[in-house]
Amino acid sequence: MSKKLCITFDFDDSLSEPWLQELAQRLIDEGHDVWILTTRYDELHKHMYGREMNHEDLYSVAEFLGLKGKILFTNFQWKAKYLKDSCVDAHIDDNSDERLECYINKVKTKVFIHEDHDFEEVFEAWLKSKQ
Ligand SMILES: [Mg+2]
Repeated sequence: MSKKLCITFDFDDSLSEPWLQELAQRLIDEGHDVWILTTRYDELHKHMYGREMNHEDLYSVAEFLGLKGKILFTNFQWKAKYLKDSCVDAHIDDNSDERLECYINKVKTKVFIHEDHDFEEVFEAWLKSKQ
């Protein structure tokens, strides 16, 4: 059995996309611990949007992947704040500012930006290096 890693996915413009859902499903099938880490406001803070907002799209993807109990909301805080001192091995996002914040704050979690041209290559190499 290879090492079980903890990997978080951003939702908007990340796990909302089918190709990243496929990657998440594969990681789950391989036994990794996959979570959703979104900047969105949670149910207790979503009045902060100042407009009607529901997370139906998020919940339906979470349901599809079996991640309904594994959604973390940062309530519009940097993910670096959340990832700092966590046991998350890798985080996948579309926002390179999240990676920069993690770097500035010396967060140990490896942040991958899936819009990088070599994302798949670099991520697979990282995954392999952890086995
Ligand atoms: Mg995003």
